[in-house]
Amino acid sequence: MDTTLVLLALGAVLATAAGVWVYLRLRKPKEEPFYHFRCPGCKRRLRYRARQAGHAGECSNCGRALTFPPVTASID
Ligand SMILES: [Zn+2]
Repeated sequence: MDTTLVLLALGAVLATAAGVWVYLRLRKPKEEPFYHFRCPGCKRRLRYRARQAGHAGECSNCGRALTFPPVTASID
């Protein structure tokens, strides 16, 4: 087999793999970070997203009605 052809084929495979990798990387949606705070009722650490801040919700553990705090008040 001609070495040049082998190298060309190998190069084509690598280029395709790199293209797919870049495509998948760019395609991946940017994930919103999670923030945390403690439920005033059961003290469970709850997770929420920035867009939920200031909105009403309820504790997934005890069901207590609460308002998601500003992200600046989030805990780790
Ligand atoms: Zn709770």
